[in-house]
Amino acid sequence: MAMSCSSSMRLRLNLVPSGRRREDPGNVHFVRRAGVVASPLRLRAARAMEDDARHPFDHVPRGVEEVVGDQEEDEEKRRRRLTIAVVGFGNYGQFLTRTLVRQGHTVLAHSRSDYSAVAAEFGASFFADPHDLCECHPDVVLLVTSILSAEAVLLSLPVHRLRRDTLFADVLSVKEFPRNLLLGTLPEEFDIICTHPMFGPESARDGWGGLPFVFDKVRVGDCPARRARAEAFLDIFAREGCRMVEMSCAEHDAHAAETQFLTHTVGRTLAMLELQPTPINTKGYETLLRLIDNTCSDSFDLYNGLFMYNNNSTELLNRLEWAMDSVKKKLFDGLHDVLRRQLFEAPLDSATAAAAPPIDDAPIDGDLDGDNDKESE
Ligand code: NAP
Repeated sequence: MAMSCSSSMRLRLNLVPSGRRREDPGNVHFVRRAGVVASPLRLRAARAMEDDARHPFDHVPRGVEEVVGDQEEDEEKRRRRLTIAVVGFGNYGQFLTRTLVRQGHTVLAHSRSDYSAVAAEFGASFFADPHDLCECHPDVVLLVTSILSAEAVLLSLPVHRLRRDTLFADVLSVKEFPRNLLLGTLPEEFDIICTHPMFGPESARDGWGGLPFVFDKVRVGDCPARRARAEAFLDIFAREGCRMVEMSCAEHDAHAAETQFLTHTVGRTLAMLELQPTPINTKGYETLLRLIDNTCSDSFDLYNGLFMYNNNSTELLNRLEWAMDSVKKKLFDGLHDVLRRQLFEAPLDSATAAAAPPIDDAPIDGDLDGDNDKESE
């Protein structure tokens, strides 16, 4: 979805805009005076507002403006430096922050729990109060909260304190739900990109190279500055070598039910068996043990969210149950055939009976004892 942005050419030509300007000196003084009496967090927010006050228009993405303002700098490098508010600083928020900070972006973290110490270790600033966070006017607000809490968390943000065209992005593992939520909640001037990095701390332990990153530019304003900011955000993942996959949120959810929800369901089902390593592990068995580790290290909230907020998950769960029943039926049908033959066919004389295979050894369907198992070692 594209929106028009008439200020883009003005920005490039450095003309005076007709829109509201931010460098009204009265505003700046107000911020400075407020900063003197405010708490440290407020002070930080006030400093960020002073920075913002230097920008000519409050509807021009900051990172992009820097490109135009300073021709001496390496344009490509500067354009990519964004201020990103990570909302939800749990397992995944921290995982993403490590890379964001390494790439030179400024990370402002916010979460239900107090992560100030952790954030400081990462080189990020922590804001307990969402008002302070929004007053820092980040270029991008990245929603990394649990699927189940996304709506409540989004509604708790005072979005009126943000710049009028802030870019909102999310990394929720389902996509149609946040797409509809963001479209229904945010002001029309805000840009929206829904994404799903299809990897996590376990699967991307050795880097993000080659791993799929799904994105849908749900709404990006039709002007160079906003398009450039969207590209700068997506470039975070492209630069790490992710396989960039642009697809609609609906298409993502249809695929994700079969890939992600199925994988997590099988992993969690196997975990119920409390499987342990044995001295004769096959490669296949080790794959199963790894699957259990990979899926159960994510929170149950995440798994529950995959089920609750993906329309396709219930059908997948029903198909899985049907598939398990079908396999069982095939085995038991074979067993019944052998039993029936023994019970109802002409009684065998003692010599034939001795030559007949015992029920346990009877071939049922397939190679059950693993003799021909390609994976056996
Ligand atoms: P998660 O359990 O899905 O989410 C944990 C985060 O949600 C924490 O920041 C937590 O805040 C917040 N949260 C939970 N309940 C809340 C509530 N009632 N109110 C406010 N905040 C609440 O685990 P996660 O692995 O960190 O995943 C975060 C998001 O990333 C999810 O949407 C997930 O689908 C997505 N994602 C995860 C992975 C992965 O591999 N883990 C991969 C791709 C995408 P506090 O910690 O402050 O309590």
